[in-house]
Amino acid sequence: MGEMKEGLVIKGIGGFYYVQCGDVLHACRARGKFRKDKISPYAGDRVRIEVDANDEGYVQEILPRKNFLVRPPLANLDKLFVVSSVCDPQPSTLIIDKTIAAAELKGIEPVLVFTKTDLSDTTELKDIYGSIGIRCYFVSAADGVGVDDLRPELTGCISAFTGNSGVGKSTLLNLLVPELELATGETSKKLGRGRHTTRHVELYPVEGGYVADTPGFSTMDIERYELFRKEELPEGFREFAPYLGECKFTSCSHTCEKGCAVLKAVEEGKISRSRIDSYIAMYNEVKDIKEWQLSKT
Ligand code: GDP
Ligand code: ZN
Repeated sequence: MGEMKEGLVIKGIGGFYYVQCGDVLHACRARGKFRKDKISPYAGDRVRIEVDANDEGYVQEILPRKNFLVRPPLANLDKLFVVSSVCDPQPSTLIIDKTIAAAELKGIEPVLVFTKTDLSDTTELKDIYGSIGIRCYFVSAADGVGVDDLRPELTGCISAFTGNSGVGKSTLLNLLVPELELATGETSKKLGRGRHTTRHVELYPVEGGYVADTPGFSTMDIERYELFRKEELPEGFREFAPYLGECKFTSCSHTCEKGCAVLKAVEEGKISRSRIDSYIAMYNEVKDIKEWQLSKT
């Protein structure tokens, strides 16, 4: 029996899992009984490893996850930066709201980042997202405005960036974590990712935490809202919370009912039209999903 240690999976590649234990990085093979359950260690997993006399490491146990994503494969995320550009490409409030809801329901803290503020007015986005109770950053990589305000958000936590291709994720991450050396712009990405030649998810140490580098997952691949139960959907819209209590005993869907406290809050301007529109669109997409379909996933 070798020495048992606990650590954090930084990446998995070529059959090896790289596990950070204090200052030491162990390249480990998977050997534990978790393999029977057909689960494999993800970047972000806390694991128990055994290190034998020859310094060979083996992952024996994956500790319980507080959450995980499948695409990209990441475990135990603390924060998800939801990145959109104010234009070029035009932001989709529906995609933003779906991503926020997915994060909320998984217990991952969403943080909103709007990029390219040098290119367009931000008033409308500030009106929608400035008061929903989620921290919101407006940045321009072109002139550096707002970028450093984001830095403290990375401190001490495991985070990932999501957003459609072209919104400026790589440009922003390169400013925050220069060691990443991500390729930016469509042309340079087509030519390859510099020193990154394979598609694997990796955690990079930054500001006492880790940020996920997720090549090949540039689009909004975070698990889809189809997996939501309609009953839990309101939890994805945190500014609805004060009004839900008044509806919940009548199994209100908060989409069309007379006397609904949520819809009343919309009428009174306390909830934005844009947000309730997303909610209703999402509700209509999930309302006919059966329990057995959800349990299969
Ligand atoms: P990604 O696909 O989300 O990683 O986006 P990129 O970082 O590759 O950026 C896509 C394009 O937007 C590139 O041509 C960048 O130079 C440009 N870009 C990124 N951030 C900004 C910004 O703040 N302002 C302007 N004007 N262009 C930006
Ligand atoms: Zn209601």
